[in-house]
Amino acid sequence: MTFENLVPVLSDALVARGYEALTPVQTHVTETEAKGRDLLVSAQTGSGKTVAFGLAMADELIEDGRLPFATSPLALIIAPTRELALQVSRELAWLYGKAGVRIATCVGGMDASKERRALNQGVQIVVGTPGRLRDHLERGALDLTALRVAVLDEADEMLDMGFRDDLEEILDATPETRRTLLFSATLPKPIVQLAKRYQRDALRISTVGEDRGHGDIAYQAVTVAPADIEGAVINLLRLHEAETAMLFCATRDNVRRLHASLVERGFAAVALSGEHSQNERNHALQALRDRRARVCVATDVAARGIDLPTLSLVIHVEIPRDAEALQHRSGRTGRAGKKGTAVIIVPYPRRRRVDGMLRGARIEAEWMDAPTAADVRARDQERLMEKLLTPQEHEPEDLELAQRLMAERSPEDIAASLVRSHRALMPPPEDLIDNGPRGRDAAGRPERGERFERPERGGDRREGFEDAVWFRLNIGRHQNADPRWILPLLCRRGHVSKNEIGAIRIGPKETMFNIPRAIADRFAEAVVRTANQDGEDDSGVAITPAPDGPTYPPRRDKSGSAGDRSPRATLGRAPGGDRAGPRGVRAPGGPGGNDRYKPKPYGQRSPRRPK
Ligand code: AMP
Repeated sequence: MTFENLVPVLSDALVARGYEALTPVQTHVTETEAKGRDLLVSAQTGSGKTVAFGLAMADELIEDGRLPFATSPLALIIAPTRELALQVSRELAWLYGKAGVRIATCVGGMDASKERRALNQGVQIVVGTPGRLRDHLERGALDLTALRVAVLDEADEMLDMGFRDDLEEILDATPETRRTLLFSATLPKPIVQLAKRYQRDALRISTVGEDRGHGDIAYQAVTVAPADIEGAVINLLRLHEAETAMLFCATRDNVRRLHASLVERGFAAVALSGEHSQNERNHALQALRDRRARVCVATDVAARGIDLPTLSLVIHVEIPRDAEALQHRSGRTGRAGKKGTAVIIVPYPRRRRVDGMLRGARIEAEWMDAPTAADVRARDQERLMEKLLTPQEHEPEDLELAQRLMAERSPEDIAASLVRSHRALMPPPEDLIDNGPRGRDAAGRPERGERFERPERGGDRREGFEDAVWFRLNIGRHQNADPRWILPLLCRRGHVSKNEIGAIRIGPKETMFNIPRAIADRFAEAVVRTANQDGEDDSGVAITPAPDGPTYPPRRDKSGSAGDRSPRATLGRAPGGDRAGPRGVRAPGGPGGNDRYKPKPYGQRSPRRPK
């Protein structure tokens, strides 16, 4: 088999690597129309773009089937991160291996003197990150005067990361006659400006949407109560049992916390964030490659450029900052024709935002509840059945032990012990506080948990609540507000115990609750301390004082009397606020409710939006 349009030495390398066809971006950049021209290529991550620019620059590099000896580099590839640069280096090493390539890789965090030696010895290709390349250039170690082709990989990322000056300085040091290939997932204005300045008559190539990589990711949006996020992550990991999974957090602190928590529960996990040295990162990645670790918790920046063929699950533990970040993170899976799943964990208050982000990126996601502990156990059982019922050749030694066991115990006993010991190897699933809207009882009434107020206890006569102060939460029935997850959230945010929280009134878009006046100041201070600059927690919940109290009615109990009769219930209430009974209080998803987000139980697939 050979690949048309390619020089034989590269075609042979692709065949030897087991590639059967070019990806769309590789086809486009090697067509006759693209030969010798500057290229401005928008291609998704995972589309095979590294091999694409490797192939595209062949005409500038190969002479008589080989790379000529070069005293100064002929090709330069600039990438945003160490990992991406190292990965590019690895790919070009096999692609150009038979052509006699010598590559120098110059990246921050590595030994610069070694890199200088490599550059001195004469290489045809240099791959590096902008800062380090600029360093070598300024110190005279990198001579770009004979350069024939420059490649900017993930150019949008490089500009986002503030590398514009470095890039310009490097490109200005290259001959005008060079060919410039610019690869970028997106083409925002700054990229177009950069292209205008450094490219001539560039051919624009866009394969976004054609790439197999992008199409092979199934997106799921899993809605959870804010307090259930970590439990949902654990259950998702246990449900999928992916060979390798990558978990994304927004900050290095959150990476550290989640990583510690997973390790404590028995997951083989590693962490990648800005706080890790290059050495630690290399170890973490090696552990993932040789399967000592299966879960990687990372920040966006730390995970850029990582290519792990076994990675089949990405979990956005914290919502990405925008659609591009969503695609970049998700693109760690579903690479080169393999299937992958990207799960976005969506705390109820963030549903609209995520929905908007998905729509903007034209991604069809399935909305569903987080898997429950029972879902995980059921899947475990299926897996175990499959594993144990697969016919196997047994070693004589094992058969002998089996016979000894059979002599002592019944087959049932032995099988049950086997199941137990198998289960003991796996971290147990979590019981989630809340799993979406409650079911209905036999009479069609909402189950107890769907009540919109905190059940009254002790006849509302608890000490301290005669004089209470109202606060407001920016979430209501439309965000699945439910006392079962609101209570733990209030305790965590306000540093109080459950017993110090009084009535909880849930309206369509907001929730009111009260706190004894004696501790209200302390509560309010803790709430401020546990919020970010926007006054919200990570899942978008804001707590503010509400001196006027609720303006919507309390739910009535079965006897028809208003449930909230204690003196505290009237404290600060707006005039006329206590007018109605249960009218106007609607179940989630009912008239006026928010049907669109009504999630399906895990595993029941549904289109993202009703069409
Ligand atoms: P990239 O988009 O460069 O990060 O590449 C994603 C993955 O696809 C890498 O592991 C490549 O080795 C692999 N790959 C690139 N081209 C092909 C191809 N034509 N067939 C199969 N796999 C490929």
